[in-house]
Amino acid sequence: MTDEKRRILDLAARHVCPHRVEMLQGLGVDLVIGRREGYRIWDVDGRELLDFHLNGGVFNLGHRNPEVIDALRQGLETLDIGNHHFPSPARAELAAALVATAPGTQYAVFAPSGGEAIEIAIKSARHATQRRAVVSIRNGYHGHTGLALAAGDERAAALFLSQGAAGEFVHVPFNDLAAMAAALAGDDVAAVVVETIPATSGFPLPEPGYLPGVKALCERHGAMYIADEVQTGLGRTGHWWAVQRFGVQPDILVTGKGLSGGIYPIAAALLAPRAAGWLQSDGWGHVSTFGGAELGCRVGLKVLEITARPEVLRNVAAVSERLGAGLEVLRRQYGDWLVEVRRCGVVMGLRFANPRGAMLMAKHLYDAGIWAMFAGFDPSVLQFKAGMLIDAAYCDEALTRFADGLRRCTAALAG
Ligand code: PMP
Repeated sequence: MTDEKRRILDLAARHVCPHRVEMLQGLGVDLVIGRREGYRIWDVDGRELLDFHLNGGVFNLGHRNPEVIDALRQGLETLDIGNHHFPSPARAELAAALVATAPGTQYAVFAPSGGEAIEIAIKSARHATQRRAVVSIRNGYHGHTGLALAAGDERAAALFLSQGAAGEFVHVPFNDLAAMAAALAGDDVAAVVVETIPATSGFPLPEPGYLPGVKALCERHGAMYIADEVQTGLGRTGHWWAVQRFGVQPDILVTGKGLSGGIYPIAAALLAPRAAGWLQSDGWGHVSTFGGAELGCRVGLKVLEITARPEVLRNVAAVSERLGAGLEVLRRQYGDWLVEVRRCGVVMGLRFANPRGAMLMAKHLYDAGIWAMFAGFDPSVLQFKAGMLIDAAYCDEALTRFADGLRRCTAALAG
């Protein structure tokens, strides 16, 4: 390790996140990202890695996408963050473009982060229904702010005594319609919040009929359906929004991460009119100084423009097929270890035959030149998040390195 890297790790351990530094090093991962370009990152020591983490889709369009950087540069010629109290062209245009991608929605309320956009979604549902209770999926993840934290994994909320009052935040298993029906039966639930493909649980795919069934239950019991598309939206599944792939029109759709183009933080809750009553009656019902910053809106608009190109969604399908075929060959070859490939567009989860298998794989892939992260709530599953613009050569290079990682990991386990 270079002295410079040691210095940064020590500083981070002392002043930023001691436990995280310790844990990653314990796993054998001492990554400090320096240079980054396209879908490659370089450790400050100089080692190059293929990025299959993409920070949950922040880098859907690659690191430092030149078109996105240009949009920010152009914005900087005339704009700044703006004043959130007033209408602005950048915000109005991004809102119109966003809701045009999400049938049934009409308004975009902006936030600086996905968690805060979830806050807006839950608050809107509570206002619309005049109910408090929120049902979400066990082992879901919606951010670390107040309501979002309470809606997510109970252990994470308990760390900060943020679970909410008894009965306020109810968690049910994913893909279990009977449990959802029971949770909604009292007609007292404001909203069901659900990641379309739960990322932190390792991307288990919704079973046929599950999400439409949840939507039907919401309608029957007067609850709002909030689709958390922070990770699954913006083209990753080959559709604008993964809910479209599964045949659901949500009352509220939350986006974040990729909307930033990896360059300027921005997130949004898209509201159908029935969820947006407060916007009609209280202009300052929810405000956020940095939510919908004008520079971020210009960046977001560019992200939408790029994503809308037909060749981009075609590429997502091609990448999904190519990686899927290569992974299937490896799954057959290493069937005792790589036991399941979950795949929906470039949303992929790889399950290994050990409850902490993906932690081991993350380390060996790191050594083999790929950075991919295990799923926090199910470390048997590796989140394998491919970029939306990668080409065939990159896919093949990744598969070669992945095979190398598999060899290293299985050899280490055998030894
Ligand atoms: N929802 C999902 C599905 C997420 O993955 C995340 C972030 N990992 C969030 C919400 C919260 O986003 P942020 O970190 O921007 O608050």
